[in-house]
Amino acid sequence: MGEVMIENEEKLDKCTQNIKTLVRAIDIEFGNVTVNSGYRSVEHNNLIGGAKNSMHTTGMAVDISIPNVHVIKIASWLLYNIKKYPWTRMSINIFKNYIHVDEKKVKSIPEIHLYDRNNKWL
Ligand SMILES: [Zn+2]
Repeated sequence: MGEVMIENEEKLDKCTQNIKTLVRAIDIEFGNVTVNSGYRSVEHNNLIGGAKNSMHTTGMAVDISIPNVHVIKIASWLLYNIKKYPWTRMSINIFKNYIHVDEKKVKSIPEIHLYDRNNKWL
């Protein structure tokens, strides 16, 4: 297996093992994954206007993007491949330029949500 190069991988340091494994699986599939945001302290989350009770503050969420790979393509791959992995509890939020993935605390089928650039539901 080749060396995995993930941009800003240090942002995963305080994320859960499931999130780390997930990002590495995406990177093995597509390459060039950029971690836009991983774990955030509550203070940092408030400072950047993150959602109250954001899963980023528990390390159970990650925002990623891949240059020249459409967010829908990444989300589709996740939906088709997620059943191979133990983290079937997940929510995939698709934004214009990145996707946010978080682990859900209760068992459920994967959820997918679409947002426009103003972060409203499509
Ligand atoms: Zn996020």
